[in-house]
Amino acid sequence: DDRISRISSSIRVIPDFPKPGIMFQDITTLLLDPKAFKDTIDLFVERYKDQNINVVAGIEARGFIFGPPIALAIGAKFVPMRKPKKLPGEVISEEYSLEYGTDIMEMHVGAVQAGERALVVDDLIATGGTLSAAIRLLERVGVDVVECACVIELPELKGRNRLGDKPLFVLVT
Ligand code: 5GP
Repeated sequence: DDRISRISSSIRVIPDFPKPGIMFQDITTLLLDPKAFKDTIDLFVERYKDQNINVVAGIEARGFIFGPPIALAIGAKFVPMRKPKKLPGEVISEEYSLEYGTDIMEMHVGAVQAGERALVVDDLIATGGTLSAAIRLLERVGVDVVECACVIELPELKGRNRLGDKPLFVLVT
């Protein structure tokens, strides 16, 4: 698919960001290429448009860039999964482990209902800790997580294995 090669070449790699030894995958350069950005959204929409998904859960911050256009195109609601103390209403929280320490993800109570079908969207999967926290949060309230979708996978970190039986769809490895 020539759309995939355009998307792949539009992603910039920045060495030693945010710390020495990390090769940061920078998707802001993908956003500067309207064709690559549109192809990214189109590829996800083609996959999810007929799957009766009614929730697109986007993970802060870059899941907020890719999630909403997918949600609009497939007729689903968009639910932000946020860093702690950002959402103003009542929240449910899920702690998850990072390389050093832990973090917390929050979602508004009442944003989703038991039995709804969700797609979880982020820009990139590394260790899978972030996506697995989002899955747990949604499953705690009875939501059926159909799949996770990312633009980029770093396969050497085996993040896929942390998602249990949840399928992961990515455009670029
Ligand atoms: P994980 O929890 O899978 O280890 O890390 C994934 C999370 O960290 C995602 O929310 C993603 O946005 C962020 N992340 C980690 N490394 C990178 C990177 O190289 N580029 C981008 N764009 N995000 C990253």
